[in-house]
This record gives sequence, C-alpha cells and structure tokens, in this order.
Amino acid sequence: MRGAQRSPQQYPMSQLMVKPLTPGSVIGILGGGQLGRMLALAAARLGLRCHIFEPGADCPASQVAALTTTADYSDTEALRAFAGSVDVVTYEFENIPEAALDVIEGMVPVRPSRKALSVSQDRIVEKDFLSGLGLAVAPYADVSSAGELAQAVEKIGVPSILKTRRFGYDGKGQVRLKSLSDVSGAFEAAGSGPCVLEGFVTFEREISVIGARAQDGQIACFDPGENVHVDGILDTTTVPAKVSGGLATDAVLLAGRVLNALDYVGVMGIELFVTKDGLVVNEIAPRVHNSGHWTQNACVVDQFEQHIRAVAGWPLGDGRRHSNAVMQNLIGEAVDGWQGVIEDGLHLYGKADVKPGRKMGHINRISPKS
Ligand code: AMP
Repeated sequence: MRGAQRSPQQYPMSQLMVKPLTPGSVIGILGGGQLGRMLALAAARLGLRCHIFEPGADCPASQVAALTTTADYSDTEALRAFAGSVDVVTYEFENIPEAALDVIEGMVPVRPSRKALSVSQDRIVEKDFLSGLGLAVAPYADVSSAGELAQAVEKIGVPSILKTRRFGYDGKGQVRLKSLSDVSGAFEAAGSGPCVLEGFVTFEREISVIGARAQDGQIACFDPGENVHVDGILDTTTVPAKVSGGLATDAVLLAGRVLNALDYVGVMGIELFVTKDGLVVNEIAPRVHNSGHWTQNACVVDQFEQHIRAVAGWPLGDGRRHSNAVMQNLIGEAVDGWQGVIEDGLHLYGKADVKPGRKMGHINRISPKS
C-alpha cells in the first residue's frame, strides 16, 4: 500500500483541508455565550453566516446569528441536523462532551481540532504536553483521593493550589493550600474528583498571548497583554504589558511553538506567569479569550475575525496594534454603570439577568500607541 492514493473519505474529516469558504457559507458554533456572539458578529462582517448550537434559550449569540439550534449536547438528532447545515464547526468553550464531537466530526470538519480540545480539557494532559515541548509549567502532581493529596503535598509542598483536572474556569474548582492545616478537607472541597496539585508560582505579573494559526501554517500573534484577576476572574487586560521587548518576543515565540505542535487552526489564548526565571505557562485555551477582547478597538483585525478567517480557510488578517488599550470587564452589577462609560469602547453581551460573577460586558479604553 505504500504510496497508494487514499480517497478523501479514508481520512478523518478534521484532518482535511477546508476549501476556503465563500461568502454566504455557514460556520457552526458550539456554545452561545458572549464569545460565540462576538465570533458571529465578526463572521457577519465578512459575509459569512453563523449557526449557533446551545442548550440555553435566548443566548447572547443567538441574538446576532443567522440560525440557532436550542438543544442539549446529548441530542444526537439535533447534532446531526446542525452538522448537516454548516460548512465547518468551531466552538467557544472547551468542555464539549466527547460524544457530541463524535457525531459532528463524522460529518463536517471541526476547527480547532480534537487534539487541541483533548489537551486543554484536562490540566494534567495539558501540563504533560507543555512540558514535553520543553516549556516551564508549575510543579504538579496527579491527585485522585484524599490519601494521594497528602502524598502530593509531600512532593509539591505549600503554598499550592488544588484544581479539578477538568471543567474548571474563572478560578472555579480550585482550593488554595496556604499551609499544611489547609490540607485536611481540601480534596472534598474541590469536589472529590480527579485533581491536580500545582505548586504556587511566585510571579511578577500575569500576561497572555492571543495567537492565531491558519490551516496553511501562517501564524499571527497579538502583542502580549497584562492581566489582573480579582477573585479568580479576569478584571483588566492592559496593552502593552510592562515587560521587556525580549520577553514579549519570547512569549510570542512560545505561543508559535504551541500552535505548531498542535497543527492548530484558529485562535488560542495562552496564559503565562512572568517570573524572575522567565515565562511559566499557566494554561492554554483553544478558543478566543477574554484577555484578547482589547483587540476589538486597538487592532485593525481583532481576535474574533482572526478566528473566523482561520476556520474559514482564509489567510489571517493584519493583527497589528494601532493603539494602547485597557480592557475592563463588567462583572455582575458593574454593568449597571454602562451609561457612565458610553463614550468608551463599550461592548454589552445582551444578557438579561445580572448575577454576581457573571460577565455582562466589557469596556475597551484606547490611547495613542507607545
Ligand atoms: P486558572 O483558572 O488556572 O487560570 O487560575 C486563575 C488564576 O489563579 C490565575 O490567573 C492566577 O492568578 C492564579 N493561579 C492559578 N494557578 C496558579 C499557580 N500555580 N500559582 C500562582 N497563581 C496561580
């Protein structure tokens, strides 16, 4: 069989090159939150339509998309109909059930690929992958029981953070161990499921790189932004980050390595700790990222358009930054002050219910580029 031609049907759909989509084509998006909404808006600007798949009714993305399917991820019929109605599928969150992907992937290409999803869905798989590339990560140990936590603490020490391996976001599913007295009960507090214990990284600042890769391997990264979290949730991103030019280049090159290693297609958010010894990778997100929202007002082509271009099989756009920017998230009741910031770069997500900790919108304040 060596050298024999294989018909396209013999390759998994996700490994096929997508023929560049023509205007009017339909991009399926799994998830209907604010990221799906901003992806759909970017697609519309390029003459592409979006079909949202989301279990919740009246979601932020459905308000601006051409089509919506409201159904559960376990609804095979609905998934089949959705996959049959779109030219390519992408997603706005990483915790998509495997079985749903099996159904979709058999019918239509999924971008970014399954590999990127499986690496980022599990914190241990992710850390193994990143350290395999020679990148620095926090010291870590697998924890599957309270007994294993005690052993892991002996290896990693305190302070450390116990995190669920899967389904954690915005600091959820995390228990901080400041001293040995915090160990007892910590496994239960994290939900008694598979966890990772991470050594606490002493960092000077947190930055992130939003990188995009097209299916022909073209890579474009936005300038690193500096992130401040409050209660585990992103509060502000400031660009440029207060780091040296050399370190900013290191961060971008690191992002390029991760994107290439996954043969990635789309936008990825890479969160980094800046330490006195250099960059340590916190986590990667195989999607557009909250810390990349500043690009909407400070770049010619923003992260949402870059993602749509990549999954559509188009060349990437010009992601150069023309301004400095500070992105401020509007969390919970902070959104009630929207009238006071109406002259800034205001983005509201169309969510009816204000809840504590809920991302309701953001403001991008730009100033001349330094
Ligand atoms: P995560 O959900 O893993 O991104 O964690 C949310 C935030 O918690 C990060 O942005 C950091 O501010 C902090 N954090 C998480 N892991 C560590 C760590 N190993 N060392 C220090 N801070 C951490």
